Amino acid sequence: MSAPRVVSVAAASPAQRAGLRVNDELLAVDGRVPRDVIEYRLLVDEADPELEIRRGHEELTLHLRKEAGEVPGIEVSSAVFDRVRTCDNHCEFCFIYQLPKGMRKSLYLKDDDYRLSFLYGNFTTLTRFTEADLERVVTERLGPLYVSIHATDPALRAQLLRNPRGAVSLRWLAALLDAGITVHGQIVVCPDANDGAALDDTLLGILDRYPGLETVAVVPVGVGDHSREESLRAHAPEEARRVLTQVRTWQARFLDALGRRVVYAADEYYLLAGEAFPDADAYDGFAQHENGIGMARTFLAEAEAALAGRPGPGTGPRPGFFAWVDGAPADGYRAPRATSGAPAAPGAAPVAILTGEYGAAVLTPLLPALTRHAGVPVRVLPVKNRFFGGNIAVTGLLTGADVADALEGAPADHRYLLPDVVLSRDRFLDDRTVADLPRPVELVATDGASLVAALA
Ligand code: SF4
Repeated sequence: MSAPRVVSVAAASPAQRAGLRVNDELLAVDGRVPRDVIEYRLLVDEADPELEIRRGHEELTLHLRKEAGEVPGIEVSSAVFDRVRTCDNHCEFCFIYQLPKGMRKSLYLKDDDYRLSFLYGNFTTLTRFTEADLERVVTERLGPLYVSIHATDPALRAQLLRNPRGAVSLRWLAALLDAGITVHGQIVVCPDANDGAALDDTLLGILDRYPGLETVAVVPVGVGDHSREESLRAHAPEEARRVLTQVRTWQARFLDALGRRVVYAADEYYLLAGEAFPDADAYDGFAQHENGIGMARTFLAEAEAALAGRPGPGTGPRPGFFAWVDGAPADGYRAPRATSGAPAAPGAAPVAILTGEYGAAVLTPLLPALTRHAGVPVRVLPVKNRFFGGNIAVTGLLTGADVADALEGAPADHRYLLPDVVLSRDRFLDDRTVADLPRPVELVATDGASLVAALA
């Protein structure tokens, strides 16, 4: 157990009035040692909590004067104060096994912790879930949670997770749903493993045994050049079309049986199949937007609304508790993206938008309208992901080295816009920063309205 450190104290807050300082270690609240930021939040939510802290070699007690429910004004250094529960599965499609060596240590952490599911929207397989966890989730109403299903057939699920517990851990999903906890699921589809008839069987299993699932995302496996799994391969376009047909068929069945579509296909499937994205209405509120379900449709709708001077549609609340409260900074890939970019180049310069190959496919049809709006030529500068290779074409996984390659030799007097989704705490996945790029780039928030505003 490592005590969380205070990283900021809000001005004029109860914490500041009580004398709390940055770098103080928080040992206990009202005599209780919180295990994580969820428990900490519940404890400091009470009126007048008493904090035990360590400051250097000294231990002190501070009394916060505040109403019940009043925000104490403290941000702490981590979300989980005991150990993050790591995953005991060995899925052949695990992206962490496909990471090249030598990257940031935190990227190699295989977490399977329901708390990170609640806090950040991370997916958990529930193979390490326990009775005590169930009791806590139900008592504290820790939802929504995000569960990796992959298959509902016990033997197939155990095989996919390479863990015998995979065969039985969906009993926790049933228990969570029975207790009224909101759960979103996902199926990572691997050709020749859980596609085709197996995918139909999984969707039937969901309708039959887990009809309380709020949504289920069907996403294609990502296969990079660093994968050492021989049987792992990416979908061919006709396989993507087949998955889309299955998803549409099952949406109709779920609508019939439950009055909800429940299942949604990832944007990548539409791009790979060469099919148009569904209308915004068909996403029913974009509950799995951050999982790549409807991101392209939202982006296009935001850009089109901004070009027409209308307010954008928005995507509703984002997954995870931290979508709406503060308390601990998000870590890993959900960390704040960027604090600043290069200053804008002269307004009359032609503009290039740096983006992954999928992003380029989404943006290209918009270019005539963006050019009219900007009054200068606007083009897309697709960045090939050589770092991961394979079918990895989403913008969020571009590295600084790949962006630098794309910019090498590009005209020096053009403007270059870069979506901020490529950065986490100002760094690319390979630890480079925008200062390492051969051209100045302007960072733009990764949504259609921000892109249109940046071009104005
Ligand atoms: S459950 Fe997730 S983290 Fe664990 S091995 Fe499978 S894909 Fe990797």
